[in-house]
Formats: sequence, C-alpha cells, structure tokens
Amino acid sequence: MIIEPRMRGFICLTAHPDGCKENVRQQIEYVKQQGAINVPKRVLVIGASTGFGLASRIAAAYGSGASTIGVYFEKEASEGKTATPGLYNTAAFQDFAHADGLYAKGINGDAYSNEVKQQTIDLIKADLGQVDLVIYSLASPVRTDPATGVLHRSVLKPIGEPYTNKTVDIHTGKITDITINPATEEEIENTIKVMGGEDWSLWIDALQEAGALAEGAKTVAYSYIGPDLTQPLYRQGTIGRAKDHLEATAGSINEKLKPLNGEAYVSVNKALVTQSSAAIPVVPLYISLLYKVMKEKGNHEGCIEQIYRLYKDRLYNSAAVPVDEKGRIRVDDWEMQDDVQAKVLELWNQVDTDNLAAIGDLQGYKSEFIGLFGFGSDAVDYTAEANELVRVNN
Ligand code: NAD
Repeated sequence: MIIEPRMRGFICLTAHPDGCKENVRQQIEYVKQQGAINVPKRVLVIGASTGFGLASRIAAAYGSGASTIGVYFEKEASEGKTATPGLYNTAAFQDFAHADGLYAKGINGDAYSNEVKQQTIDLIKADLGQVDLVIYSLASPVRTDPATGVLHRSVLKPIGEPYTNKTVDIHTGKITDITINPATEEEIENTIKVMGGEDWSLWIDALQEAGALAEGAKTVAYSYIGPDLTQPLYRQGTIGRAKDHLEATAGSINEKLKPLNGEAYVSVNKALVTQSSAAIPVVPLYISLLYKVMKEKGNHEGCIEQIYRLYKDRLYNSAAVPVDEKGRIRVDDWEMQDDVQAKVLELWNQVDTDNLAAIGDLQGYKSEFIGLFGFGSDAVDYTAEANELVRVNN
C-alpha cells in the first residue's frame, strides 16, 4: 500500500516500515562509526522498540556484539493497516542483527504482566543462560498491577496548585497559554504505580529468583529532571513523583543485588523527541528551543548518541560509575549547562507564534516527530508501494 502520515493530536496513526528501517539503519551506522565499546555480551532491554530503549539495544548489539532480548508492546500490521513504529523498528533491527550474525529475539506483550516476565525468563534460560545488563525503558500511560488486576492510569499534572505556561501545537506552530489543574492524591498514586519503580523492582526480583542475572549484573532505568520552567509540571508534578520513586527504587534494588555484586542505576537523560515526550504539554516547545540552542552550540544529541555516551563514558568506563550527589548517572549534563539553560530561558521569554520559526527549531522538532513514524526520510520513496505486513523475525 502507499503509506502516508495520518496525524491525530500528538500521535500519528500510520507508520512507514521502510522509513522505520532507515531510522534503525542510521542508528546502527552511527554506532559502527563510533567504534567498539565495552558493554557485556548478554543484554535484556525492557521497552526496546522505540526511543531510548531501542537505542540501548542497538548500541549494545553494534557497540560490543551483544546478544539482545527486547521486550516491547506494539501493534502488528493487518491488511491495509500499518503496524506501530516500534514493531517495524524491531523487525528491522532483528533482521539487521541476524544478517550480521548477532543473536536478537523479541517478546511483544505487556511487560507489566507476570506472564511476559516468565516468558522472558524462559527465553533467557533457554538461549543465553543469564543476562549481564538489564535496561528498563518503559514509558506507558497505563499499567495493570498483576497482584490486584487493577488498571492504573498516569496523569501529567502539577501538584498543589494550577500551572500555567506556554505550549505549542506542533502541527500549526501556534503558541497558546495552557493551564493545568493540580492532580488529586489518587492521581498522584496512580502515576507512581505506572511510572515509578515498582515494576522495575518486580522484574529484577523475578530475574534474580530465577537465577537469570549474572554475577556483576547491572540494571539501569531512565529518568528526567529538566529546566526550572517545567519543574511545576514535570519534576515537581505527578511524573516527578514517579521518577522520585524510580530513583529510590535504584537504592533498594542495589541492596538486593549485593550478593551478586550487581548494581542498579538511574540515568538522567536529555529531553528528546519521542512518542512519550510529545504527549507532555509545554515540553515540545521547550525542546524546540533547546534543540536550536544545542545545535548552534554543536552539542545536540539524539537517543543513540545519548546511550552510546552512557555506555562508553559512564556505565562501562572505569571501575566506579560516575554519579551525582543522589547517586544518579547524568547524561543530561550538556542540556543542563548554565549557558544552555540561560539561552533557552531568554528565548522562552520572547517566543510567540510569530517568531517561533526564527528563534526556535520547530522544523527540527516536526521532522523528528514524523521521523519517529518513519516519515520524512530522503532515503525512502513515499510514492512507492510499501509492504505494511512486515513481521518480526525471532
Ligand atoms: P518511548 O515511548 O519511545 O518508548 C517506550 C517503550 O516502552 C516502547 O518500546 C514501548 O513498546 C514500551 N512499552 C510501553 N508500554 C509497554 C508495556 N506495557 N509492555 C511492554 N513494553 C511497553 O519512550 P522514551 O521517551 O524512550 O522513554 C523511555 C524512558 O526514558 C522513560 O522512563 C522516560 O521517562 C525516560 N526519559 C525520556 C526522555 C525524553 O525526553 N523522551 C528524557 C529522559 C528520560
């Protein structure tokens, strides 16, 4: 079929298999060009099909020849209806990996469930024996607690008082003020249930009990802090509470991993265009100004650059992993540099609908956004018939 983008709000309802394949190919190429890194050979990535998780998988496989198992939750294609981009990304990654002689298998299902945890453990035991690194990169609006069967929904809201700031409609470039009312206690608790550390901990418990974690195994989950201007909505808001919980969970997992000489970390990553960050009000406008400033400064990174640097300069650099005063790895260091933040704030105070194209990088944001769905690539002929029925080969 001929596949065109069909936008609805902050998602795209279609995805292009060839464009997704091209995205994966470019990430692989980046890692190959950078050269070998010291990541161990058996890696499990939970949330492996898009964004930071996909980059974590690609950087491990192509940076050190690691065998990877990826867990993800994506829709398969049907006749005339495309799959979600993560499905095409995974199909492409696994085909490239197999062609290059690398072990790569995936499990498509709900990572929050006991069944998918068990399936993953069975696969590890059968094929790899154990894993040396577990990346936890889930981003989801909902989670069914396997212990209670209750479906929890996360919200993106401030806590205590309403928050008003500028936000952009990325399709039209129109900037308006948005006011978001504070969350209820129940909404805060639900957001922690979905995006906090409980499920990460359950994964590590299950893997450890099954003997599926190798001596010295590491696990890393991803977090975000961001600028002062998004604090009331992000870090001091509901999602921030969940990230606080995730960061505290790293401490308790660390204790549990001591008998194995294992380690648990949270890595604070940079703000990037992903399906998850596009859903947060205010953040896309911040990202379009940030991109402008960081591109001009020459230190802009995407997911693959971030994760390659995380592996090379932080996690597997020396005996002691460099962390901040709260024990967190920081690869948001370039985003948070004083001059970068001062410049973004200066632009933030000026930006309006009329000057956004000139002072911000809305075009860059938009092209990365449609790029997430495999559109806008020069390497793809979008007028040609594409096979939407691509499947993942294990
Ligand atoms: P993303 O939306 O690109 O990826 C989410 C992944 O989770 C996908 O592979 C998806 O298939 C998987 N997933 C979702 N629900 C699932 C389920 N129930 N079962 C199995 N898999 C499921 O998100 P992302 O932006 O890469 O975020 C990953 C992590 O990085 C999150 O913790 C996020 O908070 C953090 N982070 C993101 C940013 C950013 O700017 N995007 C910055 C710093 C940290």
